[in-house]
Amino acid sequence: MKFSIASPAFFLFSLIIAANAVSVPVLPREGKSKGRGKGGHRYGGEYGSDGVGGARPAPDSEDWTNATAALIELHKNLCEIPSIAPNELAVGDWLATYLRSKSFTVEKQEVARNRNNIFAYLGNKNRTKTLVTSHIDVVPPYINYTYHPNGTITGRGTNDAKGCVAAQIKAVEGLLTKGLIGEGDVAMLFVVAEETDGAGMIKANDLGLTWDSVIFGEPTELRLSLGHKGVLRFSIEAFGKAAHSGYPQFGINANEDLVEALHILSKMKLPGSDLLGNSTLNYGIMGGGTAPNIISPYANASVAIRLAADPLLVRALVNETVKDLPVTLTWFERFYGPQYLDYDVEGFETRAQAYGTDIPNLKGSHKRYLYGPGSILTAHGNAEFVTVTDLVKSVEGYKALIMHTLP
Ligand SMILES: [Zn+2]
Repeated sequence: MKFSIASPAFFLFSLIIAANAVSVPVLPREGKSKGRGKGGHRYGGEYGSDGVGGARPAPDSEDWTNATAALIELHKNLCEIPSIAPNELAVGDWLATYLRSKSFTVEKQEVARNRNNIFAYLGNKNRTKTLVTSHIDVVPPYINYTYHPNGTITGRGTNDAKGCVAAQIKAVEGLLTKGLIGEGDVAMLFVVAEETDGAGMIKANDLGLTWDSVIFGEPTELRLSLGHKGVLRFSIEAFGKAAHSGYPQFGINANEDLVEALHILSKMKLPGSDLLGNSTLNYGIMGGGTAPNIISPYANASVAIRLAADPLLVRALVNETVKDLPVTLTWFERFYGPQYLDYDVEGFETRAQAYGTDIPNLKGSHKRYLYGPGSILTAHGNAEFVTVTDLVKSVEGYKALIMHTLP
């Protein structure tokens, strides 16, 4: 059932329900952040929170209701504009107008024709200590935005990553309103193409800016990320010889060679790490052959390895494994190793992720934090969702992270 959020009575009612509901599966805790480095955050939460990932808003407060309504409205507007890469123009234009209406200085950085990153800051200082960033592109297909009465919001991008975008903006706005940040403290960058080739974040390097800290937004279930795996990809080909299938002795079956090689590769013991677990190998695409009655002359597959160890070491092991097999490997030029992130902020639960992000695409020696509402387990699926509770908590989480990064 679809509800309109236009009715204030319904809205207040559903916010109260949402604040008290536990509507997402709670995954087991993997530990608390250690608070190494600077120690705890100094932002206590706008509504008397008792922690950050776990900020508990008071659902009877008028401030809370208004702030939450504004957050939901922003999130709804972002999600209702389709932005499947490479068609991010409309959502970027809308976002630029919104940010200007909130008195931010906004620059559009052209990544390709009709594809813009949105970069926003206060006043004239585009050089800031901290950057908060996420992505405005989404994966296909478009799925309608729907606000459900239990405080769950479904639809494409509600979770990955427009939940992060909306929460990051509201965190910056909230800190600004309270006079806790000013010019030169925080900039916001919302990029295109994260879901495809990372062209948006790669282009952001051309801004010529550096930051002390960058807070990346991706769904982490409100946990501060310890790190995430890297990616290595290769294609593998087998070249055979066509013959009548009644006389296989006169041909060479490329399908057979490929399947054999993939089987051996999938049984390899790949190195991992204590933090990120095992490296894993997936052959996601296979093709080969021409007809059932022809010995296959050609076969190929595309393989991705989620890396929990040194990419060069893993590459060498794979090369060694196939060196005597009748297949040809071609490594993709672009790859990155495991990303070890900063988590020196008290009060957050922590976890490592197996997915990839834009983090390695932004060059620099900045501290790197990764945090956001929603679960990666529902991102990219047909049932993608985020809860109002998570969105609200993540605003508090982002505020705490931003304040932690400012001296
Ligand atoms: Zn994402």
